Parts: sequence; C-alpha cells; structure tokens
Amino acid sequence: MIFDNHNRPISYLRLAVTDRCNLRCFYCMPEEGIKYLPKHQLLTYEEMERLVRVLAKLGVSKVRLTGGEPFVRNGLMEFLEQLASIDGIQEWNITTNGILTAPHIPELVRLGVGSVNLSIDTLDRERFRLITRRDELPAVRQTLDALLAHQVPVKLNAVVMEGKNIEDIPLLSELTRESPIEVRFIEEMPFNGGGSHYPVLTWTHQRILSELKSLYPDIQKIPDPANSTSYSYQIPGYKGTIGIIAAFTRSFCGSCNRIRLTAQGTLKTCLYDSGVLDVRALLRSGADDADLTAAFLKAFAHRPKNGFEAEQQRSPVTESMSTIGG
Ligand code: SAM
Ligand code: SF4
Repeated sequence: MIFDNHNRPISYLRLAVTDRCNLRCFYCMPEEGIKYLPKHQLLTYEEMERLVRVLAKLGVSKVRLTGGEPFVRNGLMEFLEQLASIDGIQEWNITTNGILTAPHIPELVRLGVGSVNLSIDTLDRERFRLITRRDELPAVRQTLDALLAHQVPVKLNAVVMEGKNIEDIPLLSELTRESPIEVRFIEEMPFNGGGSHYPVLTWTHQRILSELKSLYPDIQKIPDPANSTSYSYQIPGYKGTIGIIAAFTRSFCGSCNRIRLTAQGTLKTCLYDSGVLDVRALLRSGADDADLTAAFLKAFAHRPKNGFEAEQQRSPVTESMSTIGG
C-alpha cells in the first residue's frame, strides 16, 4: 500500500475512458457540447490496461470506469474483461448515465462488476429533458429496473440544483423505501465546461440535510463506509440509504484515497487540481514500467492537502466534468 505526503493511502483509481457523451447535462457541459479530443489523443484501451497494472502493483485495488459516458466508447466490454483479470484489482465499478447500459447488464454481472452508479437527477421527464437537454429518461429508468432485476448494487447520483430538481429530493428518497439502493445527493461543482459558478452555492450539503430532515424528521445518521465521500443516512423502515456528497464544500479531503486519470491520460491527484502528470506523453515516449512507477510515486508524494489548496495552485477551472470523470 502506498501513502501520500499526508499519510493517506492511494487505493482507488477513477478512470475516464472517454470524453464523449450522449447527454449535455447543463452542469457538466454547454448545450453545444465540448470540443472533443481527436481520437489519437485519448488513451487507448491497451494503454489504460498497462497503467492499471502498474498502479495495481502500487496498491490500487479499486477502479471506477467513468467518462464522458463509458458506454459510448466502442470496445468497452472487451476492456472490462481485461480489467477484471488484473492481479490486485479487487473491485471495479462503473458510473453511467444509463442510456446505452441496459443491454450490457448480464455481461457486467458475468464479469463481476461491484456496483453501478447511475446518474439520474430527476424522475420527471420534462425536468430530465431540461437538465440533460435530451429526452432520454425512459432509457435511464429501464437501466435502473434492469440493474435491480439483476441484483446489481446500485447508487443513484443526483446533483441538487436550485430551480431544477428540488422537487425530486423526496421523489428520489422514496425510491429507497422498497429498493436496497443508495440515493446520493451531490453538491454542484464548477466543472461545467464554461468555468461559471454561483457566487454562493445554494444547495450545500447542510441545506440538503435540513431539507431531508424536514421531509423525514426521524431520518437517522448511519456509519459512513471507510474513505467515503458521502455522509450516509437512512429513513427508518426503508430498505435503501441516502448519501449526501459535499463535493463543492470539500469536507472529506482528509481521508481521500483517490486518484484520477482523465480521458487524455492526465493524472490528477485531486479533483480540483489541473493535472499533475502527463502520463500519455510518458507512455508514448517509451517509458518502461519502472519509469511510470517512479513518476506516479513522485506525484503521490506531492499531493495537495485538500481541494482548496489544489484549487489555489491552478488557473481558474474551465474544464468539463466529462473530461475528468467526476
Ligand atoms: N456520463 C456518466 C454519468 O453521467 O454518470 C459518467 C461521467 S459523469 C462526469 C460522473 C458524475 O459526475 C455524474 O454522476 C454527474 O452527475 C457528476 N457531475 C458532472 N458534472 C458535475 C458537476 N458540475 N457537479 C457535480 N457533479 C457533477
Ligand atoms: Fe454526460 Fe455524465 Fe456529463 Fe451528463 S454528467 S453530460 S451524462 S458526462
């Protein structure tokens, strides 16, 4: 196990397999989309597999595939087959918008997916269309039903936004009544491809919690999983749980065990840094595994203490979450 300069273990990789997406969620990218990278600038699956092998030797045991939308990249299922067989990778999961996901669920189960995070900010078709700029809620609901039918552990991700989906806080919470899912309410972050953000975030994790407490006065705090970014709650008698993620307030950095590889192969040791290592350039200049290992170790020894420190060390955020992976 490798520890960073703040004595935090590095054990979890978030790997963005593409920057492409079939939605245009307004908090993630502009309506016209982002300028996608030319294909040759994306990491190939072979490069990703090699990097995961190197990182697994350093103690990374958990990988999350994300993007962009992972299922828009051809060859994803073949890559997952390779990933699942890498020594040291004990758990791999996927975050998806659910539009193309349903037909792949039996194969995901066969390959041993740990859990699927499904992004669904609203249960209302019109609100969904306004938030994502596409009329695709039925496909996402179909994926949710199929995941539950196949007993895949499911987490639902919902970014909480003033004027967009506040009505959905009770609707999404009610899904935990009969289903053993975790609904996670997430603070909105500034990664919308335009750099804009509210002067003050209205729906902070504290406000989300007070809304939940007013809806469910007997909601209970339950233990948070180790290294979790979410504060966990449960409504008594309900089968599922509710999480609140302070993604903008950044109150969880002290136990952060994550690193990220963007779709173009940039290493981020904090979500809020602007990239600390061009791994693709290293790979394509002929670096061997020892060179890669040394470069990773050097980056892990210089991690910012928290997301505020990382943000201070960079130019203002302009990127889309679609290139980072969330
Ligand atoms: N396309 C997939 C999806 O939407 O699930 C995976 C990639 S997406 C970038 C990963 C997660 O980041 C999603 O749950 C999405 O809601 C979240 N996300 C994107 N932009 C965000 C923002 N500005 N603030 C908070 N969460 C954001
Ligand atoms: Fe696409 Fe996910 Fe970004 Fe929405 S949040 S635009 S689904 S990458």
